[in-house]
Amino acid sequence: MGILEGKKGLILGLANNKSIAWGVAQACHKQGAELGFNYLGEQLEKRVRPLAEQVGATLIESMDVGEDAEMDAFFAKVEEKWGKMDFLIHSIAFANKDALRNPFSQASRQDFQLALDISAYSFIACAQRAAGIMNDGGSMVTMTYLGAERAIPGYGMMGVAKAALEASTRYLADDLGHSRGIRVNAVSAGPIRTLAASAVGDFKQLMAKSARGSMLGRNVSQEEVGNTTAYLVSDLASGVSGEVHYVDAGFHVGAGDPGE
Ligand code: NAP
Repeated sequence: MGILEGKKGLILGLANNKSIAWGVAQACHKQGAELGFNYLGEQLEKRVRPLAEQVGATLIESMDVGEDAEMDAFFAKVEEKWGKMDFLIHSIAFANKDALRNPFSQASRQDFQLALDISAYSFIACAQRAAGIMNDGGSMVTMTYLGAERAIPGYGMMGVAKAALEASTRYLADDLGHSRGIRVNAVSAGPIRTLAASAVGDFKQLMAKSARGSMLGRNVSQEEVGNTTAYLVSDLASGVSGEVHYVDAGFHVGAGDPGE
């Protein structure tokens, strides 16, 4: 019997079979969860629906997390279809490519607001709606990166958004933990080649450095991030909340790249 048997959960941010959300979806499905997904517009539905169906999704609906009305409509459909839900996985981020490539000191107000809105506020916006239909003792997880706490070349504005996301994780955990017994955590994944990662400058070099500087001497996979996330939303992690849990092969506690 899987560790998520009898639980219903949403996975937000599946774009294609390279997405971290796909690793998470496969792991949660393997552990017996019933899953629901969002997609961003008609074009994306064509990519998301076949994948979601592979893991037996019972809910696949459109939602842009930049639009409150779309979010309300999406969560209303979740409630209509499922009644209550048990876990939420937020795997969404966005920043204009130029905003990541330009010198950080040149950041515009508009680019900053967009990056923070989609990559950090959207977790709060999803959490507040999900909490309304979540069983007490439910669980939420978001995806973050080491750029939240260190200045990683090429990560710039997204690092600031991830710092806000990690702080939001702690405050959501405090709020929803006290009021509802809901746990909220973040998974800090090592670099993985995905669509979103392609916006980060020198990503190839970043991956090579991360592998060399990690304790396992390699990078991590979507599957490994997925398995850890499945554990965090399961009852096996019932005492874990407000945590940033690293899945980076030990990179963040290592001495760095031995090749430097
Ligand atoms: P990905 O496959 O491109 O996933 C990012 C997802 O965010 C996509 O599904 C994207 O949809 C969605 N999204 C963007 N704007 C949205 C909006 N307004 N409304 C709804 N969805 C929106 O890339 P990923 O690497 O798996 O990223 C997932 C999460 O992991 C992100 O938070 C990322 O920062 C984090 N992370 C990634 C790495 C890495 O190295 N890849 C490492 C640590 C953390 P569209 O494709 O339709 O725009």
